[in-house]
Amino acid sequence: MNAALKIKNETSEIISRNPATGEELGRVPELSAEDVKAAVERSREAFRKWRETSFAERRKLVMRAREVILAEMDEIALLISRESGKPVAEALSMEIAPVLDLMQYFARKGEKLLKPRRVDIGLYSLLGRSSKIVYRPLGVVGIISPWNYPFSIPLGETAMALMAGNTVVLKPSELTPLIGLKIGEIFEKAGAPEDVVQIVTGAGATGAALVEAPPDKIMFTGSVGTGRKIADEAAKKMTPVVLELGGKDPMIVFADANLELVAGAAVWGAFCNAGQSCSSVERLYVEETAAERLTALIVEKTKQLRVGDGTEPATDIGAMSSERQLEIVKDHVASFTKDGARILTGGKSKDLFFEPTVIAGANNSMRAMHEETFGPTLPIATFKTEDEAVRLANDSEFGLTASVWTRDLAKGKRVAERIEAGTVCVNEVLYTHGIGQTPWGGLKNSGRGRTHGIEGLMELVQPHHLHINRFAILPNAWWLPYGADAIETFKGFARYFASGSLFQTSKLMPRLLKRILDLRRK
Ligand code: NAD
Repeated sequence: MNAALKIKNETSEIISRNPATGEELGRVPELSAEDVKAAVERSREAFRKWRETSFAERRKLVMRAREVILAEMDEIALLISRESGKPVAEALSMEIAPVLDLMQYFARKGEKLLKPRRVDIGLYSLLGRSSKIVYRPLGVVGIISPWNYPFSIPLGETAMALMAGNTVVLKPSELTPLIGLKIGEIFEKAGAPEDVVQIVTGAGATGAALVEAPPDKIMFTGSVGTGRKIADEAAKKMTPVVLELGGKDPMIVFADANLELVAGAAVWGAFCNAGQSCSSVERLYVEETAAERLTALIVEKTKQLRVGDGTEPATDIGAMSSERQLEIVKDHVASFTKDGARILTGGKSKDLFFEPTVIAGANNSMRAMHEETFGPTLPIATFKTEDEAVRLANDSEFGLTASVWTRDLAKGKRVAERIEAGTVCVNEVLYTHGIGQTPWGGLKNSGRGRTHGIEGLMELVQPHHLHINRFAILPNAWWLPYGADAIETFKGFARYFASGSLFQTSKLMPRLLKRILDLRRK
């Protein structure tokens, strides 16, 4: 049963609304700190059994959860659209399809990726030692997630945590709690043992209570401000944290790129999910000679976009998630015009809808080129040289993703290597969160740690080092007692053994044997 149903002390309710219409979609309890703590305790209890399950059992659960999603795909896509505002098309293409792929990948490959690993310990192995790493689960993984990808982000992390042998307590965003509860229901229908996946609904205080509980690891996705608070609180209990935070992602376009293609990529990269992706294109830098043509193509494509209720099949751009988000976008657009940039199309809002907005004449001296907008805006700036493009792209407190566009792949790779970001694409944009096989995460204020990929899986386990001495019959040369002879032997260790060379180490052998035999006699 779901933790949200096991409530003693809920303080109040959260009303979930469709941002496109204002319609009430449902009410969920706001769980108290006591209820969250109890959920984590139940999770720890469930972990005792879950950690003993075979990979085959875990795989079965995750694959069954996929079956549930496939059977209810239309209903889930509609729920995502209604609660987050995004078009049904994006609920399918950017949430459901990628997370299904991630789930099958980790379900099928989890065992192989987490296979115990023998470590090459160099010359120590000649002394009869061996080392093996066994990847053990951590325990309870607390997932705190945002509203912009309310299904794929927490579900992907949950599936990975389960495959690694952990149990999960998930705190979904207060703006999308019904999708969070849906994730719990999916695992329930898939036959998850009781309390292996629990959902705790509530706002920031419920998230803070989850951090406080504490779980054995926190996977947080959200804003820099909240990330800082969580890191501070987690540090008090030494709870490890992965932080997936904001972005101000640059797109660098060289004049030799396929500009028609680039325009389509820029429009999708900046405006999909109404610009509310952490890896949205938030700054476009185009080589000066191509600026006019690229800008015209972008404006032409943007003007064709249809803004509306996400549940309408013909909608391209849905509602923004909240009034707060809308206010930030309005402020940034106003700030751009005040600083001298020009709105070429868009710029207006109605209710929670904001028109996709193309802004020309932007540059890095403008405030809105540095703060995360998280809305459907595409500011365009220009550069003259490769070095300038790199400098402008790196002039940011963020470093999540970036893209470089050129027909010259050598140039593309060269520039990509100089960009400070967790992921840099050449002739691609935004979508790599959808490739569950690759690590996801940022540099600078975009976060710490990784989700997805083998690197993300490693965040969900503890490497347990097993070291064995097969010839445990003689004392070690470095044991007590010491003396002048010991000091000479240790100098030999530093000079010869630590060189890693067998030939050099052979020079140490007589002294080493003597020291060992002396120790044995003592
Ligand atoms: P947010 O920080 O406001 O909230 C995120 C989650 O944290 C919510 O569940 C919220 O209830 C919870 N929370 C709030 N205060 C808390 C506290 N003190 N302790 C514990 N939990 C608390 O972020 P948001 O507005 O939901 O999401 C938008 C942000 O997320 C953007 O900055 C975006 O860039 C970022 N984001 C990053 C990634 C990524 O992978 N790097 C992905 C998606 C979104």
